Parts: sequence; C-alpha cells; structure tokens
Amino acid sequence: MLGPFDDGPSERAMARAGRVAEWFLVGGLVFQIALVIVTELLALYLAPANPGLDLFADGVVTSSAALLAGIGAVIELVFVPLVLGRLRSGRFRGAESLTIVLAVVGTFFGFGLVGLLFVAAYVNIGRAEAHREESRVRGAETPLAPSIAPAGPPRLAPGTAPQPPPVPVFAAMPPPPVASPFCPRCRRSTGWVPQYSRYFCYGCNQYL
Ligand SMILES: [Zn+2]
Repeated sequence: MLGPFDDGPSERAMARAGRVAEWFLVGGLVFQIALVIVTELLALYLAPANPGLDLFADGVVTSSAALLAGIGAVIELVFVPLVLGRLRSGRFRGAESLTIVLAVVGTFFGFGLVGLLFVAAYVNIGRAEAHREESRVRGAETPLAPSIAPAGPPRLAPGTAPQPPPVPVFAAMPPPPVASPFCPRCRRSTGWVPQYSRYFCYGCNQYL
C-alpha cells in the first residue's frame, strides 16, 4: 500500500500509521456527510414551526447548519482523495499540508468534530513519516539488516549452475573468511555470500 516498505519493524509501523491516517481521513469525510444529513433532517422536522428555515426563500428547507455542513462536505470530497493519493504514493509532507487545510475546514464546517478527526489523521501521517526516517537511518547504518535477507537462496532454472546473487554496490563488504566450512548436511564445501554474511551450500541449495 505504501510502496516498497513492507518488511522490518519501522516499515510495518509506518504502514500501520498510514492506515490509521487513512481511516481518520475517510472517517472525517463520512462524519461530515452524516452531519449534512442529520442537520437537514432536523431542519425538515423543525420546518413547520420555523418558516425561517427556507434560507433562500425558494421553498426549499435548508438550515444554516445544513448549508455549512454541505459546504464542508464538498470541500472535503475534493481534498480527502488528494490526501489519500499522496499518502499512498509516500508523499507524506504533501499529505500533511493538505490535511492541515482539511483540519481547518473540518473545524469550521464540521462544527469542530470533523476537524478533530483530521487532526488525528495529521498526527498519524507525521508518525508514518517518522517511522520512514527511522527505517532510512537504520538502513544506512546496517545495509545488511535481516529484513533484507531472503528466506532461501536465489531461485534457479533447472540445469543452470547456481550463481551467488549480485552484490549491491552500497553493501558494506564484510571481510572474506579465511576458509569456507563444509556443509554439515552433505559435507561439501560452501561458498561465502558477502551481502548476506552467510555461507551457502550449492549442494543442498541452502544457507548454513
Ligand atoms: Zn550441503
């Protein structure tokens, strides 16, 4: 959902905060639309005793509360999808600035309540961003973090000779071992795979 960050604790925390932010954004919009419906229903109920509810003197019952909520709903219907798009493409800063606009709109046109939901979304976008920074820092310090290591060896087409996976240019190379140990399973000699810092048995097609 949030790009290539789908493993590691920081990436998971980032995805979770992003999802929570999405729920608050959608929740705010749903709440705003509910306010339109509730205020309009209330106006219709009160209309027989209040001729003033015909705001535009056009024979249509519209309370000022329903009008305000409606304006907010229209603005939010435009902005919420924009924020969701930015969030999903990982543009957290852009998503944050639009969410501030939504918080202001939700406070004025959503009678404060909707604004609170958008503030909660803003907080969670900030959290997602912080977790991404965390994973970047961690990634820079330990490019060979366990989250990058595969569960198994590279897949091979039948009949092809096993090849060690290509070495990423950014990888810090650990010192090569003096002598490779023998595989405890098949007793063949093993090969050192620097980017995973592990020995690989090409006989068993497994890391030691
Ligand atoms: Zn083996």
